[in-house]
Amino acid sequence: MTLERTYLDYNASTPLRPAAREAMVAALEAFGNPSSVHAEGRRARALIETAREEVAALVNARPSEVVFTSGATEANNTVLAAGWQTVVVAGIEHDSVLAPARASSARVYEVAADGDGVTPAAALAAAMPAAGSGATLVSLQLANNETGAAQPVAEAALAARERGHVMHTDAVQAAGRIVIDFRALGCDLMSLSAHKIGGPKGVGALIVREGLSLRPLIWGGGQERRRRGGTENAAGIAGFGAAAREAAREAIGMDRVSALRDRLEEGVLRLSPDAMIVAAKSRRLPNTSCIAWPGRLAETLVIKLDLAGIAVSAGAACSSGKVGRSHVLAAMGLSPEIASSAIRVSIGASTTEKEIAAFLAAWETMRDEAQIAA
Ligand code: PMP
Repeated sequence: MTLERTYLDYNASTPLRPAAREAMVAALEAFGNPSSVHAEGRRARALIETAREEVAALVNARPSEVVFTSGATEANNTVLAAGWQTVVVAGIEHDSVLAPARASSARVYEVAADGDGVTPAAALAAAMPAAGSGATLVSLQLANNETGAAQPVAEAALAARERGHVMHTDAVQAAGRIVIDFRALGCDLMSLSAHKIGGPKGVGALIVREGLSLRPLIWGGGQERRRRGGTENAAGIAGFGAAAREAAREAIGMDRVSALRDRLEEGVLRLSPDAMIVAAKSRRLPNTSCIAWPGRLAETLVIKLDLAGIAVSAGAACSSGKVGRSHVLAAMGLSPEIASSAIRVSIGASTTEKEIAAFLAAWETMRDEAQIAA
């Protein structure tokens, strides 16, 4: 008998939507080079431009502001490597923001989050140089990938604009989970990733506000209006567009998802009153739960849950299976004991009540095993 799997790791990646798969297969048939003027090329171009409109609509940007990339890592790297004199970032940013910032020749200020996982806009503003101090970038994610905590991007953008700085937001985890309005946020740049919204891996977008000129990371032909060289990943882009179309609809109705998440958290606290929900007091994404169980090791919990048929990730190890203390939880000031016990459970629109019950049953078993061992 094969064990039924329960996938609760949507912040790591999401199942490919059937509509995205269909769009990709159709685009694979449209083999022409999208830059060619002939009918074959125009067919491929049309698919890309439709996807551009769909991705723009997901975040209320203009289609002309969408630059397709190989994913959010490339989008973030493009922003951070564009030749800034000063960079102000949140300490809880994804490594694809922090690593290129640290590797650049810019002066970098990393602003810590508070105990609820929120980077205070006032602390970011205090780190921003005065107007006229050279090219300055401010980068603040819309919501954190490990805790789900929403960040005060509109407020930070206002402070950045007052000083003439450029504002970037990594909206990878927020996309499809909350309604996003690029214009209303007041940002200049926004990163997105297809595989977090039911699209394929290896494709994403950088939204670049009209009128802003940014040095490209990848030079080549004049693709993407000279903002990103290289023949477009037409199939990936078409899949991204179809996923964005569906995700935009889903983002409006996430009440069911947040109710399931709340039920999961209530169950965990009932079964193990010594566990804690990280960033519980902050405004969070409806689908994300970061659960610390002091005295346990996150990696052990993840392995035990996997053996029980349930996929989650260690808060400390959400990328490439690396083991070590999460820089996000460290930036929040959590003790190493709590941080090393934190797992991340992240659900999606197709998660069922049965799956939440399966998680809680496995949690209860782990609790009972520990009691027997003690
Ligand atoms: N930013 C955040 C907040 C993420 O969670 C991720 C994916 N883990 C990325 C950027 C990188 O996205 P991609 O996988 O498309 O490179």
